[in-house]
Amino acid sequence: MSKKKPTPEQRDQWDATYREKDPERFRRMAAERAQRWRDRHPGAGAEATKRTRDPVKHAAQERVRHAVKTGRLMRLPCEVCGTTAHAHHDDYTRPLDVRWLCGVHHRARHRELARLLCPECGSRDVVAVTADTEGTPCARLCNDCGMYSGYADES
Ligand SMILES: [Zn+2]
Ligand SMILES: [Zn+2]
Ligand SMILES: [Zn+2]
Repeated sequence: MSKKKPTPEQRDQWDATYREKDPERFRRMAAERAQRWRDRHPGAGAEATKRTRDPVKHAAQERVRHAVKTGRLMRLPCEVCGTTAHAHHDDYTRPLDVRWLCGVHHRARHRELARLLCPECGSRDVVAVTADTEGTPCARLCNDCGMYSGYADES
């Protein structure tokens, strides 16, 4: 007997079960699934994906580029370490509200922001949950939807 393809309903069911039982594994599997999809669709270039998947972000970056060119916004060094920086948005819906950060501090800022965002509902009303005496955050609790979630891999 040949392997049967799961119906979309079964797939949803599995997803829900996995997400509940083993969120880390679920995230990994979802990432692998996405990677396989990208492998099968080489036409979906990074630039095009970025544009279609994140039009608000793309628009914000365009606005900054234009504002710098016309002198409305001044390009500054990294606000943390003073080296060459690029514009970072805490909030892409405020395109000209930028922070200037170098590569290192830019990534750090994004990790910080990711920690403060609920992966379930996107709310920023999230508190860190600590389990050890040193107070290292191990999970976050969303005050909006009440979901607990771990942190994504930061490697
Ligand atoms: Zn820096
Ligand atoms: Zn950024
Ligand atoms: Zn939430």
